[in-house]
Amino acid sequence: MTETAAPTAPAATTTAAAPATEPAPAPFDLFALHVLRVERLTPSMVRVVFGGPGMPRMATAGRDQRIKLFLPSPGQQAPHLPETAAGEWYATWQALDPATRGIMRTYTISELDAPAGELTVDFAAHGDEGPASRWALRARPGDRVGVFAPVTDTNQAYEFRPPADTDWILLTADPSALPAIANILAHLPGSVPVRAWIEVPTPEDRQALPTGADTDITWLTASGTTPEAIRAAALPEGTPYAFVVGESSMVKSVRRHLVKERGFDRKRVKFSGYWRQGTSEDALAQSGEAA
Ligand SMILES: Cc1cc2nc3c(=O)[nH]c(=O)nc-3n(C[C@H](O)[C@H](O)[C@H](O)COP(=O)(O)OP(=O)(O)OC[C@H]3O[C@@H](n4cnc5c(N)ncnc54)[C@H](O)[C@@H]3O)c2cc1C
Repeated sequence: MTETAAPTAPAATTTAAAPATEPAPAPFDLFALHVLRVERLTPSMVRVVFGGPGMPRMATAGRDQRIKLFLPSPGQQAPHLPETAAGEWYATWQALDPATRGIMRTYTISELDAPAGELTVDFAAHGDEGPASRWALRARPGDRVGVFAPVTDTNQAYEFRPPADTDWILLTADPSALPAIANILAHLPGSVPVRAWIEVPTPEDRQALPTGADTDITWLTASGTTPEAIRAAALPEGTPYAFVVGESSMVKSVRRHLVKERGFDRKRVKFSGYWRQGTSEDALAQSGEAA
C-alpha cells in the first residue's frame, strides 16, 4: 500500500538498457524457499531465516528493499506460485484461483547472505488476524514459502533516495517499517544528521540500530503518537529529506504536517503506508493501493 505512484507489484519490468539483440535480464525472480530458523527477536517481532535453491542469485539494494512473500493457502503445505517470474508474474498470480493461490504479502529484506544461502525477514507479530502474522507466529524449520526477490542490486524496488543536497533526514517507523529503517540507518554515512520517530508496542520492542550517522531517535510506545511528537519537535535547520513509512493514517498525517505546516518541499517527502488499520493487504491490492 503505497500512497505514491509506485506500482502494485515490485518494479519487475524495470530493466537496465541492453543491446537490442539480447533480452535484458529480468531483475527479479521467484524462489521456492523454506524456513531454516525462527527467532523471537522482540515481543512484537519474529525473525525468520529462509534458504533454498538458487539463493546465491538473490541480491539486494539494501535500504528499504522490498520483496513479495507467498504463503500457503489454508490446508496447503506449499504456496501455489505463478509459473512465470518474468515481467508478467503479477498478472499470472492474479489469474490463479484466489481460493488456492499463494497468499501474497510485501516485506523488506532485513538481511541477505546470498553466498551462505540465507534470507532474513523480520515480521511484525500483530496477532492472528492477518495470514502473514499468523504464519510467522507458527513458523517452523521446513515450512515452505515463495519469495519474489531481486537478482541484481541495481533493481528499483526501494524508495529511500535522498537527493545529494540533503542536509538532514527525517524518518518515521513502526514495527512493520523497522527492517527498512534499520537498513537505511546502516547504509547512511556519518555526515548526515538523522531525526527518527519510531512507534513500538512496548519498551522491550526497541532495537539496537547500528549506524554511522548522527542519529537522534525518539521511541514512542503509545500507538499513533508520531504526528503529535513531530509537531512538538524543534527540527534541524537546512534542506531536509523525509522518509515517512508505517501505518497509513500516521503517514498521511505526518506528510500533511511536514508539507503544509513546516514548508517541506513535497518532492523531498517520500511517504508510503505499509499497512492500514482495519484493512488487509488483499483489500488494498484490490483497490490498487498495495505496494
Ligand atoms: C514496502 C513494504 C515493506 C514492508 N515490510 C515489512 C516488513 O519487513 N515487516 C513487516 O512486519 N511488515 C512489513 N510490511 C507491512 C506488511 O506488508 C503488512 O503489515 C501486511 O498487511 C501484513 O500482512 P498480514 O497478513 O499479517 O495482515 P493483513 O491480512 O494484511 O491484515 C489483517 C489485519 O491486520 C492489520 N495489520 C496488518 N499489518 C499490521 C501491522 N504491521 N500491525 C498491526 N496490525 C496490522 C490490518 O489492518 C488488518 O486489520 C511492509 C509493507 C510494505 C508496503
